[in-house]
Amino acid sequence: MSKITPQPGIMEIALYEGGQSHVEGVTNVLKLSSNENPYGPSPKVTAAIAAAAAEVHRYPNTDHLPLRQAIGEVHGLDPAQIICGVGSDEVLQFLCQAYAGPGDEVLHTEHGFAMYPILAHAVGATPVVATERERVTDVDALLAACTERTRLVFIANPNNPTGTMIGGNEVARLADGLPEGAILVLDGAYAEFAPGYDGGVSLIEGRDNVFMTRTFSKLYGLGGLRIGWGYGPKPIIDVLARIRQPFNLSEVQMAAAIAALRDREYTAHCVAENARLRVWLAEQLATLGVPSDTSLTNFVLARFANTAEAEAVDMHLKSRGVIVRRVASYGLPHCLRITVGDEAGCARVIDGIRSFREGRA
Ligand SMILES: *Cc1c(COP(=O)(O)O)cnc(C)c1O
Repeated sequence: MSKITPQPGIMEIALYEGGQSHVEGVTNVLKLSSNENPYGPSPKVTAAIAAAAAEVHRYPNTDHLPLRQAIGEVHGLDPAQIICGVGSDEVLQFLCQAYAGPGDEVLHTEHGFAMYPILAHAVGATPVVATERERVTDVDALLAACTERTRLVFIANPNNPTGTMIGGNEVARLADGLPEGAILVLDGAYAEFAPGYDGGVSLIEGRDNVFMTRTFSKLYGLGGLRIGWGYGPKPIIDVLARIRQPFNLSEVQMAAAIAALRDREYTAHCVAENARLRVWLAEQLATLGVPSDTSLTNFVLARFANTAEAEAVDMHLKSRGVIVRRVASYGLPHCLRITVGDEAGCARVIDGIRSFREGRA
């Protein structure tokens, strides 16, 4: 047997599968499998990228200060409490690297984001799952699952792939009930889509054990560029800053993110269109006999009668060039996660499911 072996935990990782983007033999594909912004980034972002492109022979700035200042201005936060990463996934990775290792537990919810167990295993820690209540984060179950080995508790609020969220009082109860030494990480990848929600900022103020992550990948339409950030107590930021590679973000990424943040009008338009079409999509699904929970994100989790029906609908949509996401790996084999597209995209999904129903009738 080879003496070359990876660190403990690494072989436990089930490889992350991204949303499919092609269908054999089908053109005019509509990708609704990765919760991307159907309108793309702001035109100001593409201009900023072009301008930054001419300078790529220079190493980027290492402290990300202009980007942190822009985030601070838009969100009313102290830039000293912000750290930027290669997608929010990298910030989640920093948290695991810095705070968890062999023998430690990383807690997440039953239908929580796939990266949480992957990142926990990558540092040799043990992922622990807490049940949800009807596809909603269950604070009591999370608190009951805590042990003295719990180091990190990840909840996405609103959650992917369920689209549901819990209120500030519940999150506060979770934060205040955690064992000493554990950090509550509020993954706010979809926070901008939930009206009036600050992503958890107010819960961080006055606590030393709550941290928030955010991304440019969803609302801002920059998933392909990989930019995210975290906000939290200064002592945690100071720890994470030590393991962040100095050149983790390029000037192109930072320029794009700043331009995206500054185009408030475009962002507001994307949020409003998403809210309008998300309601329409859910209502149309309901009239076709497909229930879904009220979503506060840019996707809807459609529930079918059983796994076979979900798979048949998925195949039928695919044959028409519409790609949605199967979520069996999230413990939801009877569901399909459908990103809210533009108006034509939403109509295409509904037409597809209607024709599936008619074909069966
Ligand atoms: C998409 C997503 C992320 C992050 O993505 P990045 O592109 O790495 O910023 C994080 N958490 C959840 C729940 C997501 O759905």
